[in-house]
Amino acid sequence: ILERHGRDGTRLVQILREVQDALGWLSPQTLSYIADGVGWPRARVESTAGFYSFFHTRPLGEYRILFSDNITDRMLDSRDLMRALCQKLWLEPGHVSEDGLVSVDTTSCTGLCDQGPAVLANYRALTHMTLERIDQMAHLIRRRVPVGDWPPEWFHVEDNIRRRDVLLGSSLQPGEALAAALARGPSGLLAEIERSGLRGRGGAGFGSDIKWRSCRDAWGDAHYVVCNADEGEPGTFKDRVLLSSYFDLVVDGMCIAGMAIGANQGLIYLRGEYRFLLEKLETRLEQRREAGLLGRNILGKGFSFDIDIHVGAGAYICGEESALIESLEGKPGKPRIRPPFPVTHGYLGQPTTVNNVETLALASLIAVQGGEWFRAIGTPASTGTKLLSVSGDVERPGIYEYPFGVTIAEILADCGARDTQAVTSAGAAGHCLAADEFGRHIAFEDVATGGSIMVFDQRRDIFDVAQNFAQFFAHESCGFCTPCRVGTAVNVRLLNKLANDHGSPYDLDEMQRMYRLMQGASHCGLGNTATIALQDMLHKFRPAFERRLHSPEYEPAFDLDAALSQARRMTARDDAEAHLSDNLSAHLSS
Ligand code: SF4
Repeated sequence: ILERHGRDGTRLVQILREVQDALGWLSPQTLSYIADGVGWPRARVESTAGFYSFFHTRPLGEYRILFSDNITDRMLDSRDLMRALCQKLWLEPGHVSEDGLVSVDTTSCTGLCDQGPAVLANYRALTHMTLERIDQMAHLIRRRVPVGDWPPEWFHVEDNIRRRDVLLGSSLQPGEALAAALARGPSGLLAEIERSGLRGRGGAGFGSDIKWRSCRDAWGDAHYVVCNADEGEPGTFKDRVLLSSYFDLVVDGMCIAGMAIGANQGLIYLRGEYRFLLEKLETRLEQRREAGLLGRNILGKGFSFDIDIHVGAGAYICGEESALIESLEGKPGKPRIRPPFPVTHGYLGQPTTVNNVETLALASLIAVQGGEWFRAIGTPASTGTKLLSVSGDVERPGIYEYPFGVTIAEILADCGARDTQAVTSAGAAGHCLAADEFGRHIAFEDVATGGSIMVFDQRRDIFDVAQNFAQFFAHESCGFCTPCRVGTAVNVRLLNKLANDHGSPYDLDEMQRMYRLMQGASHCGLGNTATIALQDMLHKFRPAFERRLHSPEYEPAFDLDAALSQARRMTARDDAEAHLSDNLSAHLSS
């Protein structure tokens, strides 16, 4: 494995993944061996291995079962399924069975919310889990049947495309967009991208022409195109479908970006949860090379460009572009201090453009049809179409493509939502909309979204949604800066207090304080957005929180005096001196 990766430390995430696949886990001896092999200090290798949740530095069994823990999975009773499997296998969630055979745990959203509850078994995706399948799974594990021999229908992942527009309705042939772009030349293509008004589809909406021009104009030994396929936002799965069924549009888009900025190398950062796509994508890249659509002298036009796929290892923060670049360089995915920005100092310190999968696919359409055609779709400030991943309380979960400007109400009608109470418009990191806002429009100037639309009907307790989101962010915070590291953990504790019947108005005020603190002082977008939905829920769905308030006064999270009862029993004392006074108890607990 080391030789295949040229003993190159910047390939460390790939090396660790492949070694773990081969050996089952990353032992201290293995990490030392890898460190020697790539010529890096052992501590550096260990810090990368310890950062990603899909790497394990202790044995977790022959079978590693991870239940997707997004709120939409929970709504489909994923927690009951996990408990059932644990009972059958005689183990506790988060632990390894006594015989060392299997471990069961949860993981953040796996990008399969349209066909949940979802599970990763040895990092292979399983969909539509039921109690019956859980029974069978326990049986297969006890009989030590390899995951590859489990029923093939369990691994079936559907596209679930429900509404097509210009992108999902495209009939462009592989290489057609690239040929059109080569005919226009770099300047002509950039002019069309500018005319189109194309903005990044990851959610931030930065102008693609500005990003590409800045990168092209930056000095460097080499330029790079990175396709950000690390869609980890809870409730998002549109990139999964683009990669699975529209991959040539994405690859053409990467080649087009490469031509525009003067790059000869592209990298796809594929999220670890989508590892099941890897073989198919690698095969397709090879077919394109054989057809002269990738590699040296593409289409005989003197332009060379090739693509490498890098698989992530379970870290939501790597969707942030500078964290993603750190990961591509073999390091923990912690966001860089900016400036400088990736367009001037990106991958290996060279000018790099990082684009969303959907943005690149749309660039292919623009290369063929032109900027004016694209600008005529959508709204003046938000041109073109947007892919939405719709899940939750709807009859038809899946992918919907709309011109920008569509209202939330239209989406709800199309997907068969009834009695809708709330909609989260950008996964866990965006706003939570109440019924009186369903007339609002999906557009950068109104409701901006990376594409995750989760729907909650009147049966749902919004408090459960808030708690799930808070747990998600506390788990995914990279820990680099204090406001986010501490703030996300404090929010979980405050919500747990309410859930455990110890809440008071003080706790709600404290959540507001965390919001203000994290918004202003966090280092990256994760900390800045981690409390947006929670704030919305506190304001718009206040009763869901207030009905859990136990007292109008401050209430400690636990009863310290009661916690000392065991010590009193052991010392056979129950006099006044062996009890804490109420005041002292409250003070210490706080
Ligand atoms: Fe890491 Fe959170 Fe700080 Fe971002 S805001 S750098 S995720 S700790």
